[in-house]
Amino acid sequence: MKQTVFSISGALGVDRAFAFLNRNRPVVLVFHGVTGEAPGHLCNHEGLHLYRPIFERLMTFIASRYHAVSLSRLVDWLEGRAALPERAVAITFDDGYRDVLTQAAPVLKRLGIPAILYAATDFVWRGQMLWPDRLLAALHLAREPRLAIDTPRGALDLPLAGDADKMAAERSVLAILKSLDDAERVALLDRIVERLGVDSARLAGVWTDFAPLSPGELARLPEFGIEVGSHTCSHAIVTRMSDAQARHELIESKRLIESATGRACEHFGYPNGGPADYDTRTRRHAVDAGYRSAVTTIKTAVTPFQDPFEIPRCVLTHNRITLSEFAAEVSGLPRFLRDVKGRLTGRSGPEGGSWRAHARGGGA
Ligand SMILES: [Zn+2]
Repeated sequence: MKQTVFSISGALGVDRAFAFLNRNRPVVLVFHGVTGEAPGHLCNHEGLHLYRPIFERLMTFIASRYHAVSLSRLVDWLEGRAALPERAVAITFDDGYRDVLTQAAPVLKRLGIPAILYAATDFVWRGQMLWPDRLLAALHLAREPRLAIDTPRGALDLPLAGDADKMAAERSVLAILKSLDDAERVALLDRIVERLGVDSARLAGVWTDFAPLSPGELARLPEFGIEVGSHTCSHAIVTRMSDAQARHELIESKRLIESATGRACEHFGYPNGGPADYDTRTRRHAVDAGYRSAVTTIKTAVTPFQDPFEIPRCVLTHNRITLSEFAAEVSGLPRFLRDVKGRLTGRSGPEGGSWRAHARGGGA
């Protein structure tokens, strides 16, 4: 239905009209990874790693209709230090997957599109799997017909007969895991892996695109026009950290990234990035640690008066996205429709993140 609406609006030129009206409101897009593997693997059922031919199509569209700018240039503009072309779009990646270098970077370089990667340094320096990926890998390997387990939020008994069951089980378990604090979440996930009869050592090998960049690979990103920003060390939500932990994670991740790239790490990405995941206290920590900007996952466009420490971004990664849907989103048409709907239903305020972006909050 949504795709039909956007196909028709594209055919009528409505998205071009909106792109013109919004030409002075830059859009920042969020991706996580780009994969060479065709859709269908349980471990990528949400399309968090966009299939490369689809990514190429979307980026070719950006190169032909928009002005791709680096995040540093966008921040220069917000600071009043430089002009920005009309129809500006900035491309960002979160977390630090290796396929950003192997799959996305060559496409971006060929098209002359700059980008930034916000790296969670524990993921890159320690090679620890992100926790939502551990859960997916464990469900993929599970041979048990059911998952029956007690959790701090009540007992679960979920069928695991096929991929559809496993996807439903993932949603139920994620909802519980993301409501827990770090220690409880790690403990419950360990128990789930054990209950599923899965050898924990095999999880990382389940799907190659789960792998992080190494520090040496991260250092090569600037060769492709990709800046490196920080996404904390542990990927925990900054508003839930103590002052001491927040200070440590913002400063230590910056230091590690600068030591690897030999360049200033000036930009920060809030893990999760929704309305509850940053505030005046976390803003102060970002300023004190020496960053020039911070990005959220509030799904709207940037205004010339935007606080550089609350730059909104649109999360759009899934393998079912069509070019007309993408063109409409970048033009600002769906934002306009969401605002109108919000006013009509009395629900206002921008939307934050995707369920997966939320799932990632609270630690990697
Ligand atoms: Zn993240």
